[in-house]
Amino acid sequence: MMPEHISDPLNSSELALRTAVQHAEVYLSDLYRRQVAPTPEALEALALLGGPMPKAGTNPQEVINTMATIGGPATMATAGGRYFGLVVGGSLPATVGTRVLNAAWDQLASSQSTSPLITRIEQITSQWLLELFGLPEDCSVGYVSGTTMGNFLCLAAARHEILMKYGWNVEKQGLRGSPQIQIVASAEIHVTVKKVLSMLGLGTADVVYVKTDQNGGMDVADLPVLGPNSIVLAQAGNVNTGAIDPIGKLGDITEQAGAWLHVDGAFGLWAAASENTRHWLKGYEKANSWVTDGHKWLNTPYDGAMAICRSPHAIHQAMATQAPYLVSGHAVEPKDMVPELSRGARALDVWAALKSLGKDGVALLVDRCCQHARLAARLLDDMGFEVLNDVVLNQVLVSHAESTKLSQLVELVCQSGEAWFGLSRWRGVDAFRLSFSSWVTQEQDVLRLLQAIEQASIQLGMSKQ
Ligand SMILES: *Cc1c(COP(=O)(O)O)cnc(C)c1O
Repeated sequence: MMPEHISDPLNSSELALRTAVQHAEVYLSDLYRRQVAPTPEALEALALLGGPMPKAGTNPQEVINTMATIGGPATMATAGGRYFGLVVGGSLPATVGTRVLNAAWDQLASSQSTSPLITRIEQITSQWLLELFGLPEDCSVGYVSGTTMGNFLCLAAARHEILMKYGWNVEKQGLRGSPQIQIVASAEIHVTVKKVLSMLGLGTADVVYVKTDQNGGMDVADLPVLGPNSIVLAQAGNVNTGAIDPIGKLGDITEQAGAWLHVDGAFGLWAAASENTRHWLKGYEKANSWVTDGHKWLNTPYDGAMAICRSPHAIHQAMATQAPYLVSGHAVEPKDMVPELSRGARALDVWAALKSLGKDGVALLVDRCCQHARLAARLLDDMGFEVLNDVVLNQVLVSHAESTKLSQLVELVCQSGEAWFGLSRWRGVDAFRLSFSSWVTQEQDVLRLLQAIEQASIQLGMSKQ
């Protein structure tokens, strides 16, 4: 039998939306009080969401009430100001609102015919992003799920373009018997880039790793001889230190050699948005492709990144679902420029974020996070901790003379519910890592974090050098 609510769609949808928004409002207003990590009791209660596959349906309002009351407390409060893990921010209010709108709209960002709105929004945000980053306006921008898939997209284009130089069509012929591609990567390259090399059949065994300096930036002097068959993998924003590779210098070398330079800028590319940090990216526009996340430093909701490429043609050749038909000057359907055929309206998040912040707002967001990082580094140093990195952006890497106590310290702070962050290791030294990436974090949140760390260090009897 058809559940009752399906026969009354308008009423049911309205009620569902209102119920969800009410719960969401309560959730957000409680973020300042609640523990960052869920309590063990909240996690235990998740069993109530399972059980055998239900035979009969439940009305939408009750479905939402159940999820809100059981699921809500079990969330990790990444939307709040005291989550300092990974390199992720929260979600800007305008992006949360437009996500709700789009939940009602249910737009399919596949082609002009499935959503003329989103196709147009993608064109608008692409132009805005290229202007904001100062990258060539004829680059293509692909809206993908994250930097991992952005790296996949750009490196698929690189693979295409390089092999075509040797008359090899990789989309048709595959890789068996193909000319060799030389992969050169920073020794500090992100694990997801290695995963992408595997996914693309390029493999990881023959990667030539380039040494890095003290802060994790690539040492250009250690580059091997490059040729037209080389792909160089650089990064803007080391997850531990925030270091940005000398991309301009690398660009001069790759250009000379006819090689492809790719930049993984998951969070670090946003340094370009502020005058105070832009210098780290000097000359980065010489690269062939760049990737950055929306869901990290731009503070859009999850599932959004942008893959920017100087060779739209190569992207299209690698991603077309039918015979490639990109003619310069003509727009290509979104589905023929990214891996997925069906996907959500990711550019809508980017549009809302950029519209609500403006250029000045993005710069301020970047600056404020960097200020928080410097403040934390200074106070931790005062407290007797050792800051291991040059705090060039929003990441702070911290150790202590009694480094064996660090894992207990992190556990104590996370258990206190005051803040959340994780452990790391840097050049053989145990450390913890703090990321300042959220629009919602205020100075008082940073101070709460530091108080919690201080309290834990006293509890553990950690000496103050
Ligand atoms: C987070 C991150 C990635 C992976 O990005 P996802 O959006 O999680 O796919 C890749 N590189 C760097 C430097 C990152 O910080």
